[in-house]
Amino acid sequence: MESHAVSPARKQHVVCVPYPAQGHINPMMKVAKLLHAKGFYVTFVNTIYNHKRLLRSRGSNALDGLPSFRFESIPDGLPETDVDVTQDIPALCESTVKNSLAPFKELLRRINAQDESPPVSCIVSDGCMSFTLDAAEELGVPEVLFWTTSACGLLAYLHYHKFIEKGLSPLKDESYLTKEHLDTIIDWIPSMKNLRLKDIPSFIRTTNPNDIMLNFLVRETERAKRASAIILNTFDDLELDVIQSMQSIVPPVYSIGPLHLQVKQQISEDSELGRMGSNLWKEEAECMDWLNTRAPNSVVYVNFGSITVMTAKQLVEFAWGLAATGKEFLWVIRPDLVAGEVSMVPPEFLTETADRSMLASWCPQEEVLSHPAVGGFLTHCGWNSTLESICGGVPMVCWPFFAEQQTNCKFCCDEWEIGVEIGGDVRREEVEAVVRELMDGEKGKKMREKAEEWRSLAEKATECKRGSSVVNFDKVVKVLLGE
Ligand code: UDP
Repeated sequence: MESHAVSPARKQHVVCVPYPAQGHINPMMKVAKLLHAKGFYVTFVNTIYNHKRLLRSRGSNALDGLPSFRFESIPDGLPETDVDVTQDIPALCESTVKNSLAPFKELLRRINAQDESPPVSCIVSDGCMSFTLDAAEELGVPEVLFWTTSACGLLAYLHYHKFIEKGLSPLKDESYLTKEHLDTIIDWIPSMKNLRLKDIPSFIRTTNPNDIMLNFLVRETERAKRASAIILNTFDDLELDVIQSMQSIVPPVYSIGPLHLQVKQQISEDSELGRMGSNLWKEEAECMDWLNTRAPNSVVYVNFGSITVMTAKQLVEFAWGLAATGKEFLWVIRPDLVAGEVSMVPPEFLTETADRSMLASWCPQEEVLSHPAVGGFLTHCGWNSTLESICGGVPMVCWPFFAEQQTNCKFCCDEWEIGVEIGGDVRREEVEAVVRELMDGEKGKKMREKAEEWRSLAEKATECKRGSSVVNFDKVVKVLLGE
Protein backbone atom coordinates (compact mmCIF):
# COMPACT_ATOMS: atom_id res chain seq x y z
CA MET A 1 0.00 0.00 0.00
CA GLU A 2 1.33 3.45 -0.88
CA SER A 3 1.87 6.06 1.80
CA HIS A 4 0.29 9.47 1.47
CA ALA A 5 3.71 10.96 0.68
CA VAL A 6 4.83 11.29 -2.91
CA SER A 7 5.59 7.90 -4.35
CA PRO A 8 8.84 8.04 -6.32
CA ALA A 9 7.08 6.12 -9.10
CA ARG A 10 4.39 8.79 -9.36
CA LYS A 11 6.13 12.00 -10.32
CA GLN A 12 3.61 12.89 -13.00
CA HIS A 13 0.34 14.34 -11.85
CA VAL A 14 -2.62 14.43 -14.21
CA VAL A 15 -5.77 16.40 -13.43
CA CYS A 16 -8.84 14.92 -15.15
CA VAL A 17 -11.86 17.19 -15.68
CA PRO A 18 -15.01 15.61 -17.12
CA TYR A 19 -17.98 17.63 -18.39
CA PRO A 20 -20.54 17.18 -15.59
CA ALA A 21 -22.90 14.70 -17.26
CA GLN A 22 -23.03 10.91 -16.95
CA GLY A 23 -22.00 10.15 -20.53
CA HIS A 24 -18.85 12.24 -20.02
CA ILE A 25 -17.92 11.26 -16.46
CA ASN A 26 -17.95 7.51 -17.24
CA PRO A 27 -15.42 7.53 -20.08
CA MET A 28 -13.23 10.14 -18.31
CA MET A 29 -13.10 7.86 -15.28
CA LYS A 30 -11.76 5.12 -17.54
CA VAL A 31 -9.06 7.38 -18.97
CA ALA A 32 -8.12 8.33 -15.39
CA LYS A 33 -7.88 4.67 -14.35
CA LEU A 34 -5.71 3.79 -17.33
CA LEU A 35 -3.40 6.73 -16.60
CA HIS A 36 -3.18 5.67 -12.97
CA ALA A 37 -2.26 2.16 -14.13
CA LYS A 38 0.52 3.80 -16.19
CA GLY A 39 1.95 5.36 -13.05
CA PHE A 40 0.32 8.80 -12.99
CA TYR A 41 -0.88 10.42 -9.79
CA VAL A 42 -4.51 11.33 -10.59
CA THR A 43 -6.78 14.11 -9.38
CA PHE A 44 -10.33 13.68 -10.71
CA VAL A 45 -12.37 16.87 -10.62
CA ASN A 46 -16.16 16.65 -10.52
CA THR A 47 -18.55 19.53 -10.03
CA ILE A 48 -19.73 19.96 -6.44
CA TYR A 49 -23.25 18.91 -7.50
CA ASN A 50 -22.05 15.64 -9.03
CA HIS A 51 -19.57 15.02 -6.21
CA LYS A 52 -22.48 15.06 -3.76
CA ARG A 53 -24.62 12.94 -6.06
CA LEU A 54 -21.91 10.30 -6.33
CA LEU A 55 -21.72 10.13 -2.54
CA ARG A 56 -25.50 9.62 -2.44
CA SER A 57 -25.62 7.01 -5.21
CA ARG A 58 -22.48 5.07 -4.33
CA GLY A 59 -22.12 5.52 -0.58
CA SER A 60 -20.30 7.93 1.68
CA ASN A 61 -16.85 6.39 1.11
CA ALA A 62 -17.24 6.19 -2.68
CA LEU A 63 -14.91 9.11 -3.29
CA ASP A 64 -12.22 8.25 -0.75
CA GLY A 65 -10.13 7.21 -3.73
CA LEU A 66 -6.60 5.87 -3.28
CA PRO A 67 -3.56 7.67 -1.89
CA SER A 68 -2.53 8.45 -5.46
CA PHE A 69 -6.04 8.85 -6.94
CA ARG A 70 -7.88 11.73 -5.34
CA PHE A 71 -11.23 13.37 -5.96
CA GLU A 72 -11.79 17.13 -5.87
CA SER A 73 -14.70 19.34 -6.84
CA ILE A 74 -15.37 22.79 -8.28
CA PRO A 75 -18.66 24.72 -8.63
CA ASP A 76 -20.65 24.56 -11.87
CA GLY A 77 -22.10 28.01 -11.15
CA LEU A 78 -25.75 26.84 -11.16
CA PRO A 79 -28.01 27.32 -8.12
CA GLU A 80 -27.34 24.62 -5.51
CA THR A 81 -29.77 21.72 -5.13
CA ASP A 82 -29.70 18.27 -3.55
CA VAL A 83 -32.32 16.81 -5.90
CA ASP A 84 -31.00 14.05 -8.18
CA VAL A 85 -32.02 15.22 -11.62
CA THR A 86 -30.40 15.58 -15.00
CA GLN A 87 -29.20 19.16 -15.10
CA ASP A 88 -30.23 21.56 -17.85
CA ILE A 89 -27.49 21.07 -20.45
CA PRO A 90 -27.53 24.54 -22.10
CA ALA A 91 -27.58 26.20 -18.66
CA LEU A 92 -24.68 24.00 -17.58
CA CYS A 93 -22.64 24.83 -20.69
CA GLU A 94 -23.20 28.53 -20.27
CA SER A 95 -22.52 28.42 -16.57
CA THR A 96 -19.28 26.38 -16.63
CA VAL A 97 -17.83 28.66 -19.32
CA LYS A 98 -18.56 31.70 -17.15
CA ASN A 99 -17.96 30.40 -13.67
CA SER A 100 -15.64 27.42 -13.47
CA LEU A 101 -12.25 28.76 -14.59
CA ALA A 102 -11.50 30.81 -11.47
CA PRO A 103 -12.23 27.97 -8.99
CA PHE A 104 -10.34 25.55 -11.25
CA LYS A 105 -7.25 27.77 -11.20
CA GLU A 106 -7.61 28.10 -7.44
CA LEU A 107 -7.76 24.30 -7.12
CA LEU A 108 -4.56 23.92 -9.17
CA ARG A 109 -2.88 26.57 -7.02
CA ARG A 110 -3.93 24.74 -3.85
CA ILE A 111 -2.69 21.37 -5.18
CA ASN A 112 0.65 22.86 -6.14
CA ALA A 113 1.06 24.61 -2.80
CA GLN A 114 1.08 21.37 -0.76
CA ASP A 115 3.56 18.52 -0.78
CA GLU A 116 1.24 15.54 -0.42
CA SER A 117 1.16 15.12 -4.16
CA PRO A 118 3.52 15.90 -7.02
CA PRO A 119 2.94 19.23 -8.78
CA VAL A 120 0.37 19.15 -11.57
CA SER A 121 2.21 18.17 -14.75
CA CYS A 122 -0.64 17.77 -17.25
CA ILE A 123 -4.41 18.05 -17.72
CA VAL A 124 -6.92 15.83 -19.50
CA SER A 125 -10.13 17.74 -19.87
CA ASP A 126 -13.42 17.20 -21.63
CA GLY A 127 -13.68 18.91 -25.01
CA CYS A 128 -16.70 20.78 -23.63
CA MET A 129 -14.70 22.13 -20.66
CA SER A 130 -12.17 24.00 -22.76
CA PHE A 131 -11.90 26.81 -20.17
CA THR A 132 -9.30 24.49 -18.61
CA LEU A 133 -6.96 25.30 -21.53
CA ASP A 134 -6.49 28.80 -20.10
CA ALA A 135 -5.31 27.28 -16.82
CA ALA A 136 -3.01 24.77 -18.56
CA GLU A 137 -1.41 27.50 -20.64
CA GLU A 138 -0.90 29.68 -17.58
CA LEU A 139 0.74 26.78 -15.76
CA GLY A 140 2.76 25.78 -18.82
CA VAL A 141 1.60 22.14 -18.84
CA PRO A 142 0.27 20.07 -21.74
CA GLU A 143 -3.49 19.57 -22.01
CA VAL A 144 -5.21 16.79 -23.92
CA LEU A 145 -8.87 17.32 -24.76
CA PHE A 146 -11.18 14.32 -24.57
CA TRP A 147 -14.17 14.59 -26.89
CA THR A 148 -16.49 11.87 -25.62
CA THR A 149 -18.43 11.89 -28.90
CA SER A 150 -18.00 9.58 -31.86
CA ALA A 151 -15.45 10.76 -34.42
CA CYS A 152 -18.28 11.30 -36.92
CA GLY A 153 -20.11 13.46 -34.37
CA LEU A 154 -17.01 15.55 -33.66
CA LEU A 155 -16.24 15.98 -37.36
CA ALA A 156 -19.74 17.35 -37.89
CA TYR A 157 -19.32 19.76 -34.95
CA LEU A 158 -16.00 20.90 -36.40
CA HIS A 159 -17.95 22.01 -39.49
CA TYR A 160 -20.65 23.91 -37.59
CA HIS A 161 -19.07 27.26 -38.47
CA LYS A 162 -19.34 26.34 -42.16
CA PHE A 163 -23.09 25.74 -41.81
CA ILE A 164 -23.35 29.27 -40.49
CA GLU A 165 -21.13 30.70 -43.25
CA LYS A 166 -23.21 28.90 -45.89
CA GLY A 167 -26.44 30.30 -44.42
CA LEU A 168 -27.71 26.80 -43.52
CA SER A 169 -27.87 27.63 -39.82
CA PRO A 170 -29.60 29.18 -38.02
CA LEU A 171 -32.68 28.22 -40.04
CA LYS A 172 -34.57 31.25 -41.31
CA ASP A 173 -37.82 30.16 -39.70
CA GLU A 174 -39.74 27.08 -38.55
CA SER A 175 -40.88 26.31 -42.09
CA TYR A 176 -37.32 25.06 -42.76
CA LEU A 177 -37.96 22.19 -40.35
CA THR A 178 -39.94 20.36 -43.02
CA LYS A 179 -38.92 16.90 -44.18
CA GLU A 180 -37.92 18.23 -47.63
CA HIS A 181 -35.53 20.74 -46.18
CA LEU A 182 -34.12 18.36 -43.59
CA ASP A 183 -33.39 15.91 -46.42
CA THR A 184 -31.01 18.47 -47.99
CA ILE A 185 -27.85 16.59 -48.90
CA ILE A 186 -24.68 17.72 -47.11
CA ASP A 187 -21.90 16.48 -49.35
CA TRP A 188 -19.12 18.90 -48.49
CA ILE A 189 -17.80 17.40 -45.24
CA PRO A 190 -14.80 15.32 -46.30
CA SER A 191 -15.16 11.57 -45.59
CA MET A 192 -18.85 11.84 -44.63
CA LYS A 193 -21.03 10.32 -47.33
CA ASN A 194 -24.74 10.71 -48.06
CA LEU A 195 -25.45 12.90 -45.08
CA ARG A 196 -28.68 14.86 -44.87
CA LEU A 197 -29.23 17.98 -42.81
CA LYS A 198 -31.24 15.81 -40.40
CA ASP A 199 -28.12 13.68 -39.68
CA ILE A 200 -26.02 16.61 -38.48
CA PRO A 201 -25.89 17.05 -34.66
CA SER A 202 -29.17 18.56 -33.53
CA PHE A 203 -28.03 22.02 -32.40
CA ILE A 204 -27.62 23.09 -36.03
CA ARG A 205 -31.40 22.91 -36.57
CA THR A 206 -32.27 26.03 -34.62
CA THR A 207 -33.96 29.22 -35.74
CA ASN A 208 -32.32 31.21 -32.96
CA PRO A 209 -29.05 32.94 -33.88
CA ASN A 210 -28.29 33.21 -30.16
CA ASP A 211 -28.90 29.50 -29.54
CA ILE A 212 -26.68 28.58 -26.58
CA MET A 213 -25.69 25.14 -27.83
CA LEU A 214 -24.98 26.20 -31.41
CA ASN A 215 -22.69 28.98 -30.22
CA PHE A 216 -21.16 26.82 -27.50
CA LEU A 217 -20.15 24.10 -29.98
CA VAL A 218 -18.70 26.63 -32.43
CA ARG A 219 -16.66 28.11 -29.58
CA GLU A 220 -15.49 24.80 -28.10
CA THR A 221 -14.46 23.30 -31.46
CA GLU A 222 -12.50 26.46 -32.29
CA ARG A 223 -10.72 26.34 -28.92
CA ALA A 224 -9.93 22.63 -29.42
CA LYS A 225 -7.19 23.75 -31.81
CA ARG A 226 -5.16 24.91 -28.79
CA ALA A 227 -4.93 21.44 -27.22
CA SER A 228 -1.75 19.34 -27.28
CA ALA A 229 -3.81 16.43 -28.63
CA ILE A 230 -7.38 15.19 -28.87
CA ILE A 231 -8.53 11.77 -27.75
CA LEU A 232 -11.66 9.93 -28.82
CA ASN A 233 -13.41 6.89 -27.41
CA THR A 234 -13.55 5.05 -30.71
CA PHE A 235 -11.30 2.72 -32.70
CA ASP A 236 -9.57 2.99 -36.05
CA ASP A 237 -11.34 0.11 -37.76
CA LEU A 238 -14.67 1.77 -37.03
CA GLU A 239 -13.94 5.40 -37.92
CA LEU A 240 -10.50 5.73 -39.53
CA ASP A 241 -11.61 7.82 -42.57
CA VAL A 242 -13.36 10.29 -40.37
CA ILE A 243 -10.47 10.49 -37.90
CA GLN A 244 -8.01 11.07 -40.73
CA SER A 245 -10.11 13.80 -42.23
CA MET A 246 -10.08 15.80 -38.99
CA GLN A 247 -6.30 15.52 -38.56
CA SER A 248 -5.79 18.59 -40.77
CA ILE A 249 -8.27 20.71 -38.77
CA VAL A 250 -7.27 20.02 -35.17
CA PRO A 251 -4.21 18.86 -33.19
CA PRO A 252 -3.27 15.15 -33.46
CA VAL A 253 -6.32 12.96 -32.84
CA TYR A 254 -5.90 9.57 -31.16
CA SER A 255 -8.58 6.89 -31.02
CA ILE A 256 -8.22 5.05 -27.71
CA GLY A 257 -11.47 3.11 -27.42
CA PRO A 258 -13.53 1.28 -26.61
CA LEU A 259 -12.24 2.41 -23.25
CA HIS A 260 -14.25 -0.08 -21.23
CA LEU A 261 -12.53 -2.92 -23.11
CA GLN A 262 -9.10 -1.37 -22.47
CA VAL A 263 -9.95 -1.06 -18.78
CA LYS A 264 -11.18 -4.66 -18.67
CA GLN A 265 -7.91 -5.83 -20.23
CA GLN A 266 -5.63 -3.87 -17.99
CA ILE A 267 -7.26 -3.36 -14.60
CA SER A 268 -8.58 -6.11 -12.36
CA GLU A 269 -12.26 -5.61 -11.50
CA ASP A 270 -11.50 -6.71 -7.95
CA SER A 271 -8.78 -4.14 -7.36
CA GLU A 272 -9.53 -0.90 -5.53
CA LEU A 273 -9.01 0.95 -8.79
CA GLY A 274 -11.29 -1.46 -10.66
CA ARG A 275 -14.11 -1.01 -8.16
CA MET A 276 -14.19 2.80 -8.42
CA GLY A 277 -17.45 3.70 -10.12
CA SER A 278 -18.99 6.83 -11.55
CA ASN A 279 -22.73 6.20 -11.78
CA LEU A 280 -24.84 9.13 -10.61
CA TRP A 281 -27.86 6.87 -10.17
CA LYS A 282 -27.95 3.80 -7.94
CA GLU A 283 -27.63 0.68 -10.11
CA GLU A 284 -30.26 -2.01 -9.67
CA ALA A 285 -28.27 -5.24 -9.57
CA GLU A 286 -31.51 -7.30 -9.81
CA CYS A 287 -31.44 -6.64 -13.54
CA MET A 288 -28.49 -9.01 -13.83
CA ASP A 289 -30.24 -11.71 -11.74
CA TRP A 290 -33.24 -11.43 -14.02
CA LEU A 291 -31.13 -11.62 -17.20
CA ASN A 292 -29.44 -14.73 -15.81
CA THR A 293 -32.78 -16.54 -15.99
CA ARG A 294 -33.35 -15.71 -19.70
CA ALA A 295 -32.36 -17.58 -22.86
CA PRO A 296 -29.58 -16.28 -25.17
CA ASN A 297 -30.60 -13.39 -27.45
CA SER A 298 -34.17 -13.42 -26.12
CA VAL A 299 -34.34 -10.03 -24.37
CA VAL A 300 -34.94 -6.57 -25.81
CA TYR A 301 -33.03 -4.05 -23.72
CA VAL A 302 -34.55 -0.53 -23.67
CA ASN A 303 -32.68 2.46 -22.28
CA PHE A 304 -32.51 6.09 -23.39
CA GLY A 305 -29.50 7.15 -21.32
CA SER A 306 -29.15 9.90 -18.77
CA ILE A 307 -30.44 13.01 -20.55
CA THR A 308 -33.17 12.06 -23.04
CA VAL A 309 -36.67 13.19 -22.15
CA MET A 310 -39.88 12.25 -23.90
CA THR A 311 -43.56 13.06 -23.64
CA ALA A 312 -45.95 10.92 -21.60
CA LYS A 313 -47.61 9.96 -24.92
CA GLN A 314 -44.33 8.72 -26.40
CA LEU A 315 -43.70 6.62 -23.29
CA VAL A 316 -47.12 5.03 -23.64
CA GLU A 317 -46.55 4.30 -27.35
CA PHE A 318 -43.22 2.62 -26.56
CA ALA A 319 -44.93 0.59 -23.81
CA TRP A 320 -47.75 -0.77 -25.95
CA GLY A 321 -45.43 -1.32 -28.90
CA LEU A 322 -43.13 -3.42 -26.73
CA ALA A 323 -46.07 -5.30 -25.23
CA ALA A 324 -47.37 -6.17 -28.70
CA THR A 325 -44.07 -7.83 -29.72
CA GLY A 326 -44.63 -10.60 -27.16
CA LYS A 327 -40.89 -10.38 -26.44
CA GLU A 328 -39.15 -10.33 -23.09
CA PHE A 329 -37.71 -6.96 -22.23
CA LEU A 330 -35.62 -5.08 -19.70
CA TRP A 331 -36.68 -1.44 -19.70
CA VAL A 332 -34.85 1.23 -17.74
CA ILE A 333 -37.08 4.20 -17.00
CA ARG A 334 -35.34 7.07 -15.24
CA PRO A 335 -37.62 8.88 -12.78
CA ASP A 336 -37.14 12.07 -14.87
CA LEU A 337 -37.50 10.43 -18.30
CA VAL A 338 -40.84 12.14 -18.98
CA ALA A 339 -40.52 15.90 -19.29
CA GLY A 340 -42.14 17.68 -16.37
CA GLU A 341 -43.95 14.60 -15.00
CA VAL A 342 -43.27 11.42 -13.03
CA SER A 343 -42.45 8.69 -15.58
CA MET A 344 -45.41 6.28 -15.42
CA VAL A 345 -46.35 3.42 -17.70
CA PRO A 346 -50.02 2.33 -17.83
CA PRO A 347 -50.93 -0.13 -15.00
CA GLU A 348 -52.60 -2.49 -17.55
CA PHE A 349 -49.30 -2.65 -19.44
CA LEU A 350 -47.57 -3.74 -16.22
CA THR A 351 -50.11 -6.48 -15.60
CA GLU A 352 -50.04 -7.70 -19.17
CA THR A 353 -46.25 -7.97 -19.40
CA ALA A 354 -45.42 -8.89 -15.77
CA ASP A 355 -44.20 -12.41 -16.60
CA ARG A 356 -41.78 -11.30 -19.30
CA SER A 357 -40.48 -7.90 -18.29
CA MET A 358 -38.20 -6.24 -15.83
CA LEU A 359 -38.45 -2.51 -15.22
CA ALA A 360 -35.71 -0.60 -13.42
CA SER A 361 -34.67 3.02 -12.94
CA TRP A 362 -30.93 2.52 -13.61
CA CYS A 363 -28.83 -0.55 -14.40
CA PRO A 364 -25.17 -1.53 -14.84
CA GLN A 365 -25.44 -1.00 -18.61
CA GLU A 366 -22.02 -2.24 -19.73
CA GLU A 367 -22.73 -5.58 -18.04
CA VAL A 368 -26.25 -5.69 -19.43
CA LEU A 369 -25.09 -5.16 -23.01
CA SER A 370 -22.48 -7.89 -22.72
CA HIS A 371 -24.95 -10.37 -21.23
CA PRO A 372 -25.75 -13.25 -23.64
CA ALA A 373 -29.51 -12.93 -22.99
CA VAL A 374 -29.66 -9.47 -24.60
CA GLY A 375 -30.54 -9.78 -28.28
CA GLY A 376 -31.39 -6.20 -29.22
CA PHE A 377 -31.15 -2.66 -27.88
CA LEU A 378 -33.73 0.09 -28.27
CA THR A 379 -31.52 3.14 -27.72
CA HIS A 380 -31.22 6.90 -28.10
CA CYS A 381 -27.76 6.38 -29.70
CA GLY A 382 -25.72 8.17 -27.07
CA TRP A 383 -22.11 7.46 -28.01
CA ASN A 384 -21.31 5.40 -24.91
CA SER A 385 -24.45 3.32 -25.37
CA THR A 386 -23.65 2.79 -29.05
CA LEU A 387 -20.12 1.68 -28.31
CA GLU A 388 -21.21 -0.57 -25.45
CA SER A 389 -23.75 -2.15 -27.80
CA ILE A 390 -21.07 -2.71 -30.45
CA CYS A 391 -18.85 -4.36 -27.84
CA GLY A 392 -21.69 -6.65 -26.83
CA GLY A 393 -22.38 -7.57 -30.46
CA VAL A 394 -25.93 -6.25 -30.00
CA PRO A 395 -27.89 -4.71 -32.92
CA MET A 396 -29.96 -1.59 -32.30
CA VAL A 397 -33.23 0.18 -32.90
CA CYS A 398 -32.23 3.83 -32.94
CA TRP A 399 -34.37 6.66 -31.59
CA PRO A 400 -31.92 9.57 -31.49
CA PHE A 401 -32.82 12.43 -29.17
CA PHE A 402 -30.28 15.24 -29.47
CA ALA A 403 -26.65 16.36 -29.93
CA GLU A 404 -24.64 14.01 -32.19
CA GLN A 405 -27.03 11.11 -31.58
CA GLN A 406 -28.57 11.77 -35.03
CA THR A 407 -25.14 11.35 -36.63
CA ASN A 408 -24.45 8.19 -34.63
CA CYS A 409 -27.82 6.84 -35.76
CA LYS A 410 -27.00 7.55 -39.40
CA PHE A 411 -23.64 5.76 -39.11
CA CYS A 412 -25.18 2.81 -37.21
CA CYS A 413 -27.83 2.33 -39.88
CA ASP A 414 -25.92 3.05 -43.11
CA GLU A 415 -22.19 2.71 -42.49
CA TRP A 416 -21.87 0.06 -39.80
CA GLU A 417 -25.15 -1.74 -40.67
CA ILE A 418 -26.03 -2.51 -37.07
CA GLY A 419 -29.04 -0.31 -36.59
CA VAL A 420 -32.47 0.57 -37.86
CA GLU A 421 -34.09 3.93 -37.17
CA ILE A 422 -37.52 4.47 -35.69
CA GLY A 423 -39.50 7.66 -36.42
CA GLY A 424 -39.27 10.55 -33.95
CA ASP A 425 -43.02 10.60 -33.64
CA VAL A 426 -43.30 7.23 -31.88
CA ARG A 427 -46.20 4.99 -32.93
CA ARG A 428 -46.85 1.67 -31.21
CA GLU A 429 -47.34 -0.18 -34.53
CA GLU A 430 -43.93 0.95 -35.74
CA VAL A 431 -42.27 0.05 -32.42
CA GLU A 432 -43.79 -3.42 -32.65
CA ALA A 433 -42.77 -3.98 -36.29
CA VAL A 434 -39.22 -2.70 -35.93
CA VAL A 435 -38.52 -4.59 -32.69
CA ARG A 436 -39.91 -7.83 -34.18
CA GLU A 437 -37.64 -7.37 -37.20
CA LEU A 438 -34.68 -6.69 -34.91
CA MET A 439 -35.23 -9.81 -32.81
CA ASP A 440 -36.58 -12.33 -35.33
CA GLY A 441 -36.31 -10.92 -38.86
CA GLU A 442 -33.80 -11.44 -41.64
CA LYS A 443 -32.55 -7.85 -41.31
CA GLY A 444 -32.10 -8.32 -37.55
CA LYS A 445 -30.07 -11.47 -38.19
CA LYS A 446 -27.77 -9.63 -40.62
CA MET A 447 -27.35 -6.72 -38.19
CA ARG A 448 -26.48 -9.18 -35.38
CA GLU A 449 -23.80 -10.79 -37.58
CA LYS A 450 -22.41 -7.39 -38.45
CA ALA A 451 -22.43 -6.32 -34.78
CA GLU A 452 -20.44 -9.49 -33.99
CA GLU A 453 -17.86 -8.48 -36.60
CA TRP A 454 -17.52 -5.02 -35.06
CA ARG A 455 -17.27 -6.57 -31.64
CA SER A 456 -14.28 -8.66 -32.64
CA LEU A 457 -12.61 -5.64 -34.27
CA ALA A 458 -13.19 -3.66 -31.06
CA GLU A 459 -11.51 -6.46 -29.12
CA LYS A 460 -8.61 -6.45 -31.57
CA ALA A 461 -8.19 -2.69 -31.12
CA THR A 462 -7.81 -3.14 -27.36
CA GLU A 463 -5.57 -6.20 -27.39
CA CYS A 464 -2.70 -5.92 -24.92
CA LYS A 465 0.37 -4.16 -26.32
CA ARG A 466 -0.64 -4.54 -30.00
CA GLY A 467 -4.15 -3.14 -30.37
CA SER A 468 -4.39 0.18 -32.26
CA SER A 469 -6.11 1.89 -29.32
CA VAL A 470 -3.55 0.55 -26.84
CA VAL A 471 -0.67 1.76 -29.02
CA ASN A 472 -2.42 5.14 -29.37
CA PHE A 473 -2.89 5.39 -25.63
CA ASP A 474 0.88 5.09 -25.19
CA LYS A 475 1.32 7.95 -27.65
CA VAL A 476 -1.07 10.06 -25.59
CA VAL A 477 0.95 9.28 -22.46
CA LYS A 478 4.01 10.67 -24.27
CA VAL A 479 2.12 13.86 -25.08
CA LEU A 480 1.14 14.18 -21.40
CA LEU A 481 4.75 13.64 -20.37
CA GLY A 482 5.70 16.47 -22.73
CA GLU A 483 7.86 14.14 -24.86
N1 UDP B 1 -25.81 4.02 -18.10
C1 UDP B 1 -25.84 3.08 -17.11
N2 UDP B 1 -27.06 2.62 -16.70
C2 UDP B 1 -28.23 3.06 -17.22
C3 UDP B 1 -28.18 4.03 -18.25
C4 UDP B 1 -26.96 4.48 -18.68
O1 UDP B 1 -24.81 2.64 -16.59
O2 UDP B 1 -29.28 2.59 -16.80
C5 UDP B 1 -24.50 4.53 -18.57
C6 UDP B 1 -24.14 3.93 -19.90
O3 UDP B 1 -23.44 2.73 -19.73
C7 UDP B 1 -23.29 5.03 -20.53
C8 UDP B 1 -23.84 6.32 -19.92
O4 UDP B 1 -24.58 5.93 -18.78
O5 UDP B 1 -21.94 4.85 -20.16
C9 UDP B 1 -24.77 7.05 -20.87
O6 UDP B 1 -24.02 7.66 -21.87
P1 UDP B 1 -24.53 7.82 -23.35
O7 UDP B 1 -23.44 8.50 -24.10
O8 UDP B 1 -24.96 6.53 -23.91
O9 UDP B 1 -25.82 8.70 -23.27
P2 UDP B 1 -26.20 10.07 -22.51
O10 UDP B 1 -26.62 9.68 -21.15
O11 UDP B 1 -24.98 10.95 -22.52
O12 UDP B 1 -27.31 10.61 -23.33
